[in-house]
Formats: sequence, structure tokens, C-alpha cells
Amino acid sequence: MNIKMVDLGGQYLKIKDEIDTSIQHVINTTQFISGAKVKEFAKNLANFHSVNNAITCANGTDALQISFMALDLKPLDEVIVPAFTYVATAEVIALLGLTPVLVDVDWDTFNIDVSKIEEAITPRTKAIVPVHLFGQCANMCEIMRIANKYNLYVIEDNAQSIGAVYTPSGSGYLKESAKSGTIGTIGCTSFFPSKNLGAYGDGGAITTNDDSLAKKLNCIANHGQEVKYHHSMVGCNSRLDTIQAAVLDIKLNYLNDYISSRQKAAQFYLEELKDLEGIELPVTAPYSTHVYHQFTIKVKDGKRDALKAFLAEREIPTMIYYPLPLQDQKAYMSIAKVAGGKDAKDGADLLSNSTNLAKCVLSLPMHTELTEEQLNYICKGIKAFYR
Ligand SMILES: *Cc1c(COP(=O)(O)O)cnc(C)c1O
Repeated sequence: MNIKMVDLGGQYLKIKDEIDTSIQHVINTTQFISGAKVKEFAKNLANFHSVNNAITCANGTDALQISFMALDLKPLDEVIVPAFTYVATAEVIALLGLTPVLVDVDWDTFNIDVSKIEEAITPRTKAIVPVHLFGQCANMCEIMRIANKYNLYVIEDNAQSIGAVYTPSGSGYLKESAKSGTIGTIGCTSFFPSKNLGAYGDGGAITTNDDSLAKKLNCIANHGQEVKYHHSMVGCNSRLDTIQAAVLDIKLNYLNDYISSRQKAAQFYLEELKDLEGIELPVTAPYSTHVYHQFTIKVKDGKRDALKAFLAEREIPTMIYYPLPLQDQKAYMSIAKVAGGKDAKDGADLLSNSTNLAKCVLSLPMHTELTEEQLNYICKGIKAFYR
């Protein structure tokens, strides 16, 4: 049946002519760096988000790093991040000499537990990084309320949730629905090939409504120069190359279709697997749409690895995102802290959901090309395990 976690080949074949023409055009012009397509794509990306500015860069990790550089944080300033996330979120914070402070996540949504943020805030706290994990938004109303109260920046790690829509509820801080990545001070996204809007190589972008911040972000991504060979701040070299922009500009037109395909596949799983008592299915929060970057189930009774192996025998691939929370990653055990100032490795009691999720999560195949036949086969495989 040849089921893949992600099927980039099948997706390409459907738009091959458009993509090939667009790439060939870049080669013909030889404007491989900073070609016209880069600006065009940035503009279209800003429009897609209904945001004033989109700044492209080399990858999602750089997007986060450039964002922190632009906020002029000082060494030892603290940044609050969820403990259950991809490492890049905390990595750039540590690289800049800032301190990542880990907060546990909500069991149902995998996103930062907003009820535990305030206890982690100290006079050194400067920012919160909500990660919109697996395809749905964190509880942004609460996060923005807390950020306002303590005067903190909010940098949304939107690498997995581009196109998700947040609808305000509760605190009344926000009035209207908004795309993920446009609610905080800055939003960061990734165009890693397997992300929901994937390039044919690396790519990333930053979104913000703050025009002066946008100028600064642009400047930092370009060696800190506003005028060629005149460097007004320390920057880095982080560019989206023109061929990637040419690919992304075409795929952006299909992003809403891609999201629908993922949602359709998710509906199939949710319906087919709803009666299985051995697993917990993904939960969508009332305040967000879900764009299903991953379809991640929780496997009960310590059977995750056995189910994974059982499915692998039937040539059904699955992945564990993520096998370790940040407090259990060697590089971050002592660099990262928890509420109260303890090292992350000594804060396990504050991070129990993250610890336990890492032991039971299993992500099923999720991409835009899954057929009903394939989905059926996957679900049958999972049911067979529990028979
Ligand atoms: C993919 C990802 C990143 C990093 O993006 P790259 O383009 O691979 O650098 C950051 N945060 C999260 C949550 C991600 O999933």
C-alpha cells in the first residue's frame, strides 16, 4: 500500500507544471538571492495572514532567533516556553544567553498550560513563547492577558500551525478572529519541507503588525544593514533563496486546500477510531481551528511502543513527537529553569504532563495525499492491535 508519514512526491505531481515553470524562471533570471519572487511571496504571505508585514528568512529557527535579537533582551533575561515542544524554541533562547523557563502543557491540547504561566514569572521575565503545537493555537486570550499584565513580549512559534484561525473567547482581550502568528508581538513560521506549507529545502518567515519592528527584523536578517555596507546593528545572514520563494509562492495558493485535505483525513481517523478505549484521540480547543500538522494520539497503559511496532509490521509508519520533553534533554537540563528558579531536571513535579505525554504520544500518517483506502488500512491496523 506504500503509506508514508508525509507524501511530498504525490503533492508535487499535482502541481508539477506550475512548480517547474516557476523554478525554471528563477534559473533563467539567475537571481538566486533576493530575486523579485522573494518580495512577491513575502507580500502574499502577509496578505494570507492579514498582517502588515511578513519578513522571509532562511528557516524557522532563524525566524525565532532574529525575533529575540530584535527585542533587545539582555543575558539572563527569562523567556517562558512550554516544556513539550521541538527543541528549536528553547535553543535560540539559550544561544542568545537568555534563560528558557519551562512551563507544563495542557494534557488535552499539548499547548502551554495558561494556568501555570503566572507562577513562572519573575522580575527577569521578558517574553512568553506559545508554541501552537501539532496544528492548533494555544490559548492566546489568556496569554495576551498575562503578557499585558506583566508587560511581556509574545513570540508565537507558529511553525506547525500556519493557517490556523484563533477565535477569541473568555477574557475579552482580543475582539476578532485572527490567523495564528498574528496575535502576539511577533509570529515565526517554518517552511521545512514536511511543514504544512513546505518548501523544497529550508525556509522561514516572521509576521508582525508592528512596522518599526518589521524594519528592524528585516535589517537583522540582512547583516544588520539598512544601507548596503553600512551596518547599524549586529545581525545575521538569513535569507529565503529565490527558488524556495518561487515554490512557496505557488504552494501558498493551495494552502487552504492542503488544510482541508488534512482536516478530512483527521475526520476519518476521529470517526473510525472513536470507540477504541485504548487510545485518546486529539482534542480541538473551542478557540482554535485545527490544521493537523500532526494527528497525535495518546496510547494508554504503556502500550505505545508495542502499538508502534505492531503497525510497523504492517508497513504503517508512525512517529514519536517528541520522545523527550525539554527538561529531559541533556543540553537543557540545567540551562533551562522552572518556576521557583530550580534547574529543569529538578522540576519534574511541575512538568508532569510533559513527562507523561512524551511516554504515550504517537503521531499517525498525516499529509495532503492520504486516500480513503490508506486511511482505512491504517485504522484497521490500529483496531487489530486491540482485538
Ligand atoms: C519545525 C519547527 C521549528 C524550526 O523550524 P526549522 O525551519 O526547521 O528551523 C521551530 N519550532 C517548531 C515547533 C517546529 O516544529
